[in-house]
Amino acid sequence: MMKRKVNVIGSTGSIGTQTLEICDIDKNLSVVALAAGANDALMEKQARKYHPRICAMFDTKAASRLKVALADTDIKVLSGEEGVAEAAAFEADITLTAIVGIAGLKSTLAAIDAGRDIALANKETLVTAGETVMRMAKEKGVNILPVDSEHSAIFQSVSNQAQYVKKLIITASGGPFFGMNRAALAAVSAKDALKHPNWNMGAKITVDSATLVNKGLEVIEAMHLFDVGIEDIETVVHRQSIVHSLVEFCDGSVIAQMGIPNMKLPISYALHYPNRAMEVEERLSLTKVGVLTFEEIDHFVFRGVKLAERAAKAGGTLPAALNGANEAAVGAFLQGKCTILDIYDAIEGAMDNCVKISAPLIEDIIQCDKMAREYVQIHLKGQK
Ligand code: MG
Repeated sequence: MMKRKVNVIGSTGSIGTQTLEICDIDKNLSVVALAAGANDALMEKQARKYHPRICAMFDTKAASRLKVALADTDIKVLSGEEGVAEAAAFEADITLTAIVGIAGLKSTLAAIDAGRDIALANKETLVTAGETVMRMAKEKGVNILPVDSEHSAIFQSVSNQAQYVKKLIITASGGPFFGMNRAALAAVSAKDALKHPNWNMGAKITVDSATLVNKGLEVIEAMHLFDVGIEDIETVVHRQSIVHSLVEFCDGSVIAQMGIPNMKLPISYALHYPNRAMEVEERLSLTKVGVLTFEEIDHFVFRGVKLAERAAKAGGTLPAALNGANEAAVGAFLQGKCTILDIYDAIEGAMDNCVKISAPLIEDIIQCDKMAREYVQIHLKGQK
């Protein structure tokens, strides 16, 4: 049987390492290119274990070190943004893009341009440049397969009945601070935020889950992936993270996808679509779960979804401003330089101040992202 060749972009992160764990068990997958940011020590281990043709490091110093470390192999080591883009575009059946943030945009575009199907784990790509990305994918005949659990759930629920979709319902765990008021939320630390109740994820997305900005980004992501209006996407708090999202059809039928919270399920689904491959040991027991609850989001305290809806309605460069400001403010919060509530103010201020361009080019989006980050740096400094 022909192996499915996979490029793993962002291989040292949470999604990347889980993808490689799937490759350990799933002998039908073969890793041909790896790319990551700056963790050359882990990359060397991965390179020796999976024997890809190419390894790329975004950080040029890390790339230099890796080149020396892998000198006894025939693995080609590439460096910088171009190197990561080359790895993403490398000949394979599918490229999994799991670099966090807008840093993943260029490599995803390079992979689409080269005609690679995409297993998309980088939501910021669609948030900042959704129209361009979806248009390019259509032109190149490329499938964009969602790895985000909510979007995988919607993708599986829609199946081949996209024309009958009335509404998407995206579930949110509510994060570790569900039920808090503003005063309590203002007092939480980065350490508190990194304790997610159900999902094991990287630091940036875990903070995004706590603020519900993650849910906002997912609403924008869903709008592009499934070509629905922002007003036809609902969000609901579902504390158990068993129902991963739902689709309502025109006849009132609502289809949901359920499962235990485990990112390996959507990763494996995207890598094998339209087939299912992974055999899991832990399975959903409905009687063990017992109760599934659904509640409204407190939008007064957790403003992430409303801010994203504003960005999505305005379109153009506004989603890039939202995303850039969020990335910068989350970075500041993780360093203890601001409160979690400051993240919302930073996003709002950056959106108010952003240069609004209605049909932005990729360069405009990157410029807007940069300006939003600068705005946040100045804004947070002024507060101290
Ligand atoms: Mg998600």
